[in-house]
Amino acid sequence: MNNAERLMQFLFALRSHGVTDSRVLEAMEKIDRAAFTPGGIFADRAYDDMPLPISCGQTISQPSVVGIMTQALNVQPRDKVLEVGTGSGYQAAILSQLARRVYTVDRYSQLVRDARAVFDAMDLTNVTTFTADGSFGLPDQAPFDRIIVTAAAEDPPGPLMAQLKVGGIMVVPVGQSDAVQSLIRVTRHAAGYDYDELRPVRFVPLLEGLGRE
Ligand code: SAH
Repeated sequence: MNNAERLMQFLFALRSHGVTDSRVLEAMEKIDRAAFTPGGIFADRAYDDMPLPISCGQTISQPSVVGIMTQALNVQPRDKVLEVGTGSGYQAAILSQLARRVYTVDRYSQLVRDARAVFDAMDLTNVTTFTADGSFGLPDQAPFDRIIVTAAAEDPPGPLMAQLKVGGIMVVPVGQSDAVQSLIRVTRHAAGYDYDELRPVRFVPLLEGLGRE
């Protein structure tokens, strides 16, 4: 299969999983997932619809899950977005195409450094990276129009709920780390929060404190 055929198949897989938003599909067509996967044995799997291992024992999410989460987030061009769980940086790069500014945070400094190098190489100047425990959000940058959490929490973290603007949306996998989790969309209203359950997912756990490698 040549690259054009791989890309066609990739976009077909996204559509067949319900990713229909043309802005999301365009962003996913433009950002080369191979740039975020470790070289060698996995590079030629970059366009398969499966999660892949990255450093620090973490994973780059399955493309259809990235598509579904991005679509559910309904990002608008003027939005300020927080991502908790930079990982490879792939999700943040997709968001950079849709939002005004993306803040992404991971507990592993090595992952943040590697992702930053790819953002710089792609000239994604609207992505700002942080090494921190993202379950506390980024109080200095808050509030956010959109928040996406790409690690599973037992409950949507309170500080993230508080850092969401009124009218804002958060997408977060919720559940025990060793079980199937539920992808939840939280919408903040003036009077409180609404919750929708979107679909079952499987993510690595949201852990406390900084990661050591
Ligand atoms: N969005 C990533 C995939 C994330 S994998 C991508 O596109 O590749 C989940 C990531 O969440 C891991 O890198 C893990 O280190 C990070 N993580 C887990 N708990 C965290 C926390 N409390 N704060 C910040 N990052 C966390």
